Formats: sequence, C-alpha cells, structure tokens
Amino acid sequence: MKEISIFWFRRDLRLEDNTGLSEALQSGYQVIPIFIFDADILGQLEDKYDRRVDYIHQALEKINAELKEFGTSLQTYHGKPLDIFKKIESEYKVKSVYCNRDYEPAAVKRDTEVKEFLNAKNVDFFDYKDQVIFEKGEVTKDNHEPYTVYTPYSKKWKKTFSPENIQMVLNHKNFHQSDFNSIISLKEIGFEKTDLKFELPTLESAIIDHYDKNRDFPALDATTHLGIALRFGTISIRTCVKFALKHNETWLNELIWREFFMQVLFHFPKVVKRCFKEKYEHIPWRNNEEEFEKWCKGTTGYPIVDAGMRQLNQTGQMHNRVRMIVASFLTKHLLIDWRWGEAYFAKKLLDYDLSANNGNWQWAAGCGCDAAPYFRVFNPDEQTKKFDKDLKYVKKWNPDYEKSIFEERMIDHAFARNRALEAYKKGLGEYNGK
Ligand code: FAD
Repeated sequence: MKEISIFWFRRDLRLEDNTGLSEALQSGYQVIPIFIFDADILGQLEDKYDRRVDYIHQALEKINAELKEFGTSLQTYHGKPLDIFKKIESEYKVKSVYCNRDYEPAAVKRDTEVKEFLNAKNVDFFDYKDQVIFEKGEVTKDNHEPYTVYTPYSKKWKKTFSPENIQMVLNHKNFHQSDFNSIISLKEIGFEKTDLKFELPTLESAIIDHYDKNRDFPALDATTHLGIALRFGTISIRTCVKFALKHNETWLNELIWREFFMQVLFHFPKVVKRCFKEKYEHIPWRNNEEEFEKWCKGTTGYPIVDAGMRQLNQTGQMHNRVRMIVASFLTKHLLIDWRWGEAYFAKKLLDYDLSANNGNWQWAAGCGCDAAPYFRVFNPDEQTKKFDKDLKYVKKWNPDYEKSIFEERMIDHAFARNRALEAYKKGLGEYNGK
C-alpha cells in the first residue's frame, strides 16, 4: 500500500488559496481529500430542511467536480470524526493529516482527540491558520493580554498587518488518483434538499464601494451577503481583506469585527454559556414563553421587529441593523435572556457563526466585552424613521403591518423601556428602590 496524506475539509470549502490543502499537496505524499458530515453537529439540528447543510453539500459537489479534473475525488463520510479516522487509518497507510484550524471550543476538543489518536498511531496531524488574518495571540495588548475592546484591537490589527498576511497560497496539484466518488446524499445523512441555490461568492465593487454610506438601510440590500461564504470558507478571508483594503475601510472594519469576536471566543470560551461581564448574570429576566413565541413568529405589533423576524423565518437572512433592533427588543423590551435569542438565531441564520452570534447577542444585551451600554434601549419606531423611513423593508417582509400597528402592540415602548432600566439596575446592584 502506498503512503498517503489526508486533507480534511471543514470551514474551508474551496481548492484555491487554501493554506492547509496547499501544505498537504507539498507533503511529498499523494493527497486524499476528505469531508466528514459530523454526526455530533448534525444531530443538534432539529429541522432536517436546513439550507446550511444543503449549502455545504452543494459546495462539496462543486469541489468534487473540480477535483475530477485532477483525476481524483473527494471521500465523504458521515459519523463522529474520531471513529471515521479510526476507519481511515485502518484502511490506508496514512502518513499525515492536514487541516485548517478552527477556534470554537467544541472544534478544539474534537481536533485534540483526533490528533492524539493519530499521533499514537505515528501519524502526523498538522493544522494551519486559514480562516483569519490573525489568530490566538497574534494581536494582543503590549502586555500580551487579549483585547476585550474592539477599537484598540482593530488599531493594533491594522498596525500588525502587512501585505504578506494576504499573500495568496499556491496549490501544487499532487492528488491521489482515484475512481470518481459521488458525495454522500443529503438523504443518507438524514436531511432534505432545500430551495438554496449555491452561487460562487463574488466581491462586488458596486456594493462594497458604497458600503459605508448604504450599509445601515435594510431596504437597499447594500451588504455583501458573504456571511455564509466566510462561515464555510467558500471564499478566503485573504481575498476579502485584499479587496477591502482597495475599496472600503468600513467594510474592512466589519471583517475585523469578525476576527475580534473569534479571538474573544478563543480566549474566553466561557462566553458560550455565560455573560462576559459576570454581574449581568443577576439580571431578573422575565423569560415569558408566550412573548418569546410572538417575537419568534414576528407578531409583536412592532412593524420593523416583525419584518425582521419574518425575513429570518422565510429566508435565513436578516439585515444587521434589523438584527440589532430585534435583539434589543427581545432583551430589553421583553426582558428575555439573550441566550434564548442567540439559540433561535443559531437555528435559523444562514450565516450562523458561534463567535459572531454570541458576541453580537452579548453586545445587544449589554453583557458582552465591548457592549452597548445597558441603558441604550432601541426605540423601534425611531429606528424605522431613521433607517426605513419609506417603510420599504417593512412592507416587503411584513405586508400586513398596518393592521398590527398600535392597537395590537404587545407592549408599550415607554413602559418597556422603564421596566428594562429598572430590571438592569436591580440586576447590576444599582437599584435604588424607587
Ligand atoms: P457584510 O455587512 O457585507 O459584512 C461582511 C462580513 O463581515 C460579514 O459577512 C461578517 O463575516 C463580518 N461582519 C459584519 N458585521 C459583523 C459583526 N457585527 N460581527 C461579526 N462579524 C461581522 N454575523 C455572522 O457572521 N454570523 C452570525 O451568527 C451573526 N449573528 C448576529 C446576531 C446579532 C444579534 C447581530 C446584531 C449581528 C449578528 N451578526 C452575525 C453580524 C452581522 O449582522 C452579519 O455579519 C451581517 O449582517 C452579515 O451580512 P453580510 O454577509 O451582508 O455582511
């Protein structure tokens, strides 16, 4: 049996400019590319009509079609990664396994287990930085502590940056020749085909050049929709940053927010379950289930909130400005624990990413590391006047909004605002009893 290397695709579903893949192809051994549909992750998805799983599936089909040109093909598996590697190790003479690093706590645990198993069998495990420009301890305060505030982090990020950081990775096509394998079907992994049409991510200057002026107006649809592509790595972050540097600094700043929250999650994994600022654990959440249901369904009576939730439910997308409004509404107006909203978004968002979702929910609830102050309670009507004054966005996603205004509002804004301030003050120990 010939000795081979394995390249394990995860959040990097592309052949071009893929660091780990490129390294594998230079290992001196022929490379077998694999993907594992992780039973642990898929098992947590209740809804079997999941566009994200379909997105991954279609991205893999595209990779497989490209690999055919190199006389090879992707091996896909369904199961627990450790079990799959036990199987692969028993079937092939594996010299080394290559992949790109993932910073989520569960992924770190998974990779540690796989690495330990492989190393015990004398198989090397190499992982590389690929999904970020800077990882772990590369952008820290002068005393090497991680940043917990975005602005100084982004300044240091920019100071640390050099063109070398976005040098494109070259591929050397040294794949293991094999018969053509099809990708495991969605059905075989227990999922359904959805209406999602996979499109190759593109960087459009028509959008990015005007991002700073237009990004806050949901009806303009003036953001890139690259969230899912960045999540699953169908586009490389280096390509995006290169483009941002030439076209729009505000857009670059958003890409830096992405890395900021990733490093927060890496350095402070407790945020997965807990408020970054511990004292916010004392907020007396009301957690009313019926009210939560209304928020989920988009029947609060607040047109912009309802439009956002309906867009989310129908498409898996929601504009950032509206995400901020609905998150503020849930945590402040309804006093529902941010973790409920976070979990609902995790189920629905196409671009769901643990670090960005958690970071932004904690930001909205006021308990995050660099969060909105707790007394900032978005007024949904004022937000609408500012960002959707012609109600174009509202009408698109909530056409019967007029019926619901005022008479059917689930709660009065002024009342909710005062109640939220009292509850937060109480929780934070600042309540003066009045
Ligand atoms: P653009 O606006 O074109 O921005 C480009 C990319 O920059 C995004 O795709 C994303 O990768 C990154 N980015 C932009 N804004 C942020 C931000 N505030 N934080 C972190 N990264 C950012 N973003 C996610 O990628 N996944 C999530 O699960 C997620 N959950 C969110 C939950 C709440 C409550 C809020 C308020 C925001 C959330 N965001 C999340 C951030 C932001 O809303 C989305 O990144 C953005 O709307 C995606 O649109 P776009 O792809 O058109 O990106």
